[in-house]
Amino acid sequence: MKLRKNRLLKRGSVSLILVGLALLIINLVGFPTSSTQRSRPNDTLTQTSATKPPSTISPTRTQQASVLASPTVTIPKATIASPSPTAAASSEDNTPASLMFDGDTAYQHVLAQVALGPRPTGTEAGWATGDLIIAELEKAGWPVEMQEFVFQGITGRNIIAKQGSGPIIVLGAHYDTRPAADREADPAKREKWIDGANDGASGVAVLLEMARVLEFDKLKNEIWLAFFDAEDRGRLDGWPFSVGARYMAENLKVEPQSVVVVDMIGDADQNIFFEQNSTEVLSDEIWAVAAELGYEAYIIPQPKHTIIDDHLPFIERGIPAVDMIDFDYAYWHTLEDTADKVAPESLERVGRTLEVWLEEKQQ
Ligand SMILES: [Zn+2]
Repeated sequence: MKLRKNRLLKRGSVSLILVGLALLIINLVGFPTSSTQRSRPNDTLTQTSATKPPSTISPTRTQQASVLASPTVTIPKATIASPSPTAAASSEDNTPASLMFDGDTAYQHVLAQVALGPRPTGTEAGWATGDLIIAELEKAGWPVEMQEFVFQGITGRNIIAKQGSGPIIVLGAHYDTRPAADREADPAKREKWIDGANDGASGVAVLLEMARVLEFDKLKNEIWLAFFDAEDRGRLDGWPFSVGARYMAENLKVEPQSVVVVDMIGDADQNIFFEQNSTEVLSDEIWAVAAELGYEAYIIPQPKHTIIDDHLPFIERGIPAVDMIDFDYAYWHTLEDTADKVAPESLERVGRTLEVWLEEKQQ
């Protein structure tokens, strides 16, 4: 309803819309292949990363310099232009009234997790984090399943809430935090455990707020909210990354239609680029929704990093999956990954993008 009102109010934007549509048509006619192919700044780089065994790979910044230095980074054209006329006049005040995801409410979930202290897999605080997630999901009316697993003698626990009917879409986030600050410059600090306000708590916060706001009469899918344990112990004590997500992927009894992982998305200085191990068509859909909502400066439709994360165990099984991750985060795996680095607005942009994608864009 508010969408229509905004459109009427913005008569001046009609000419903008027409120009936008004309550009789109020119684009489609002139470059028929641009909608299906994204220019990759460095294919060799992607290949190299993707073929390494996940057990020895962590999210790495080594690609960043190469990607930045590459002159071939281009913005995919047709995928930015949305078929919806609202995209031409997009701005943050065009937010549809039906959007309910609230950044401040989500941020409270960040604070509640950080208040438990560092939360590595198998620790008391880690288990308490799982209990907190279960309590919040039940409060929001979601049936909850637990999936325990043992790795190197440590018990981990995935938590999966399921609701709705139709093809399954999984939203995933890891809730464990890294039992090391191994990106600290000072070696004396590297053995300390991090707060994981962004790397851990932010993704969980978005999923918990999604549990509160999703309107099931608008959904065409069964939604799973998957909280993965044991993502972030990789390269420590012989652990790989994504132990929990891999356990879930390998024990699926039904196949999801798609998986969207959110990780490190709460940075106050938000820059979420296309992650290059992700399924392109799915990234295009989600980033196009972000552009419609006026978030293009934060959820940026350009390729950048190539990350090994919780989406990969699903991609390896042929399930389309996307990693929404802001890897331009200076406090990654340091003691400075604290709640003051996370902004409610950043959580809200990701949450509202997914809210619209789920409620309005599914076939
Ligand atoms: Zn991490």
